[in-house]
This record gives sequence, C-alpha cells and structure tokens, in this order.
Amino acid sequence: MGDAYSKLLERMKDLGRLDAIEALLDWDQQVNMPPGGVQGRAEQLSLIAGLAHEWKTSDEVGQLLREAQSHNGEFAAVTNIREMARTFDRARRVPTKLVKKIAHTTALAQNAWATARAESDFAKFAPWLTRLLDLKRQEAEHIGYETEAYDALMDAFEPGAKSAEVEALFRTLRDATVPLVKAIADAPNPPDSSILTRHYGRSAQQSLSRAVAELLNFDFNQGRTDVSVHPFCTTIVPASDVRLTSRYEENFLPAGMFGTMHEVGHGLYEQGLLKEHAFTPMGSAVSLGIHESQSRMWENMVGRSRAFWEFYYSRVQKTFPDVLGSVALDDFYRAVNTVSPSLIRVEADEVTYNLHIVLRFELEREMISGKLAVRDVPTAWNEKMGDMIGIVPPDDARGCLQDIHWSTGTFGYFPTYAMGNLYAAQFFEKAQADLPDLNDCIRRGEFRPLLDWLRENIHRHGQRYRAGELVQRVTGRPLSIEPFVKYVTEKFGAIYGLT
Ligand code: ZN
Repeated sequence: MGDAYSKLLERMKDLGRLDAIEALLDWDQQVNMPPGGVQGRAEQLSLIAGLAHEWKTSDEVGQLLREAQSHNGEFAAVTNIREMARTFDRARRVPTKLVKKIAHTTALAQNAWATARAESDFAKFAPWLTRLLDLKRQEAEHIGYETEAYDALMDAFEPGAKSAEVEALFRTLRDATVPLVKAIADAPNPPDSSILTRHYGRSAQQSLSRAVAELLNFDFNQGRTDVSVHPFCTTIVPASDVRLTSRYEENFLPAGMFGTMHEVGHGLYEQGLLKEHAFTPMGSAVSLGIHESQSRMWENMVGRSRAFWEFYYSRVQKTFPDVLGSVALDDFYRAVNTVSPSLIRVEADEVTYNLHIVLRFELEREMISGKLAVRDVPTAWNEKMGDMIGIVPPDDARGCLQDIHWSTGTFGYFPTYAMGNLYAAQFFEKAQADLPDLNDCIRRGEFRPLLDWLRENIHRHGQRYRAGELVQRVTGRPLSIEPFVKYVTEKFGAIYGLT
C-alpha cells in the first residue's frame, strides 16, 4: 500500500491546509474584518469550500483510498485511511454546488444574525434561517440516514451519535438535574452573586485572562488570544498556531474569566495534538463532544473549584481591589458557583447548563424534521424556557437569537456541549483516581500533572479511537451520566448545604 498511502497522505494534508485557510478567513471575519468586507469574504469562503469539496471527493482520492484500504498498515495509517474514507463517503454524496451554496449563505446569514441579535429582531434573521434549514435538509437527504435527517447532520460533529440515544441520555440527565435545581432553589442561604456584576475594567480583565491562560499552560508561542462577539477557538496549524477569542463584559466578570478558561481548554487539546500528524486524522480531535470535555474540565472542574481559588483569588483581588478587596474567598468561590435559572446559555451555571442544551436539541430536531416552522421558533423557545428552566426571555436577543450556531448552519452541534459535560466528569473522575494529589496540585497552582494526563490519555491519540471507544479505554466503562451527577450533587450539595 506504500505508494497509494503516501499519495493519499499528501492529498489529505493538502485538504487539511485548505480547511485551515478557510478557518483563517473565518477567524479574520469574526475578529478583524470591517463590515464592508462581508460580501467579498462570502465569495472567498464559498470558493474555498467548493475547492475543498472537489479535492475531497475527487476520483483520484477514491482510487487511492481503494488501493490503500486493501492493505494492512500500522495504526496511524489504519486510522488515517478509515477516517479519510469516512470523510470521502460523506462528502461524495453532497453535490459541490450545494456545498458552495451553504458556505455562501452562512457567511451572509452570520451578518444578518449579528444585526438581528443587536436589534433583537427575529424577523431580520428568519428568512436566513428558513433558507439554511432548507439547504441543510437537502444536505442530510444527500448524505442519507437510517431514521431521521437530524442524525446525518449530528454525525458531522459527533460521529456515530444517534438522536434516539442522545434523547435517552438527555432524558435521564434532565430527570436527575431538575430535582437538584429545585433543592438548590429552596436552599436557605444562596451565594451573593452580585459581587460579580460590579464594575470590572475591560483592560484589567484582558490582562488577567492572559495571565490565566499562561497559568494553565496555554502556549503563546503556538497560539494567541483576541476578542470577538462569540468566543471560539480555531486552529490554523495543528499544534502550532491555535487561536482563541474571549468576550469581556465590564459588569460581569465570569464572561471573560471563565470564557477564557473554557477556550483555553479547547486550545490545550489542539496544542496537544501531535505535530508529526498535523493535517491528518491522527493529528485531529476525536469529536466536538470530546473537544468540549476538555474546555469544560478546565473551565469548571478546575477553574470553578475551591482548590483553584485558594491559589488564585488573591491575584484577582489585587487586580480589582476596589470591588473585591473586602470580599472573602469563600464568598467569591460561592458566587462563581451560583446556580440559578438564567437566560443565556454561555453564562449558565454547571447545573442548569445542560437544560439549555436539551432545549436546543429538541427544537432543532423539530426544525429539521419540519415539525416546527421558523416563524414559531421564538414562541416555542420561550415556552420551553418556561417549562424547563422556569424563566421566559423578555426579548429574542436573550432568547432564540443568542447563539451564532444556526447562522453558521451548524445544526446538530448543540448536543455535543452536554455530552462534553458528561465526558468531562467521567474523565476527571479517572484523572483524580490516577493522580491522588491532583487537588493539592491545583491548590498549589500546578496544572502540568493534569495536562500531562490529558496529553497521555486523550490528546496524543488524535482520532485513533472514536469517542465511545476512547471513553471506554480511558475510564473502563461506557459514557454514563453518573460521574457528572455525582460531581454536581457533591459539589453543589456542599455549597448550598443540602443533605
Ligand atoms: Zn466549547
């Protein structure tokens, strides 16, 4: 297979480079580009998406795959061929014309969404949402599925995930979460979260975020941080050029602080992929759910732990002496772990967060199936918020317009967030078992041991194992809601004095 595989590997790397050019254009659009650039950028993105699709689905790649597949190689080759074949089969089913149309439409739709959100005017986004749903339904039909179109879309982010299974997992998660939220709401002595909505100057927040990123071992020689409307992490060169963005709010410290820790978690994963496998599946993340497990672990299990703040609180106090000088460590720790129903997903606490995801999963599944019409989305959103979280958004900006995802055509993406929380808890439980002094390390500001554990068990494997297989290998059992439920029950039981 030597020759066919080497040729295939070269094609694969070129494709990875092309995807990276697309990522760079997208990063620039969200971080730097003036509004006037949007039309031209849409054309550029559409051109690149079309080119990538043609390369990905060329007869030559198909032929090389067939030749390479008929031989046995070492595991890196086996992984690369298996995943390349998966990408090829999926891509080959979707016409280039449709791919280009989706890329073009999403570039414009993102702009429409930003305006609609700023003005809280769903009508400005509705026609784009209708167009995108139609295009994504067409894409799903081309890709094919066993039971429902949504599965074909979700598969792009969490390979192999099925709506019915996710629904079952989410049902048990919801059943376990709702009573805990209720018990917390009834607890007599809630934290005072108002200390977090005092005035925190933007530039001080920005320097603090950079310090936190450095502390957690994000490598600024191989990465950078910027500001954007919607925080994200993107990779321009695997392991070598990884970019994060944050969003700072002067009256809400957690947005920038924990948003940065979250993106750092993503960034550490990307920086931990092996350079020698760059631009191939062996040097790529497993799935979005596994990616999210990394961000949520650093943001919540580390960043919102008592041990972390025992180490770091004095530094934050020194940065904001006027607002935090007289606030005790325990009050700050409890404040950053306040559990209360909220409107905005990215600001939701660890306990209610998953309910925001269940809501989106249910809605977009119905949108794709056609059961829910676009014009009814705001009402359906508000009803579900009332039913599940107990509050109703006063406007669509804080309701169905809050997330960028639908404008980028990424339907089927949301479930990976909640799955990430579950993976994170299960991995972290195992890391604690393997590293008995992990908590003390965190208390001393030593984050290397955990990072090394993640590098060893997760990062360096790239896509060698699929998500389910990886969880089984690392933790010795399949994905379960138990470690997560145990983690939140113990942590928040202590914070809220529940018995
Ligand atoms: Zn994330």
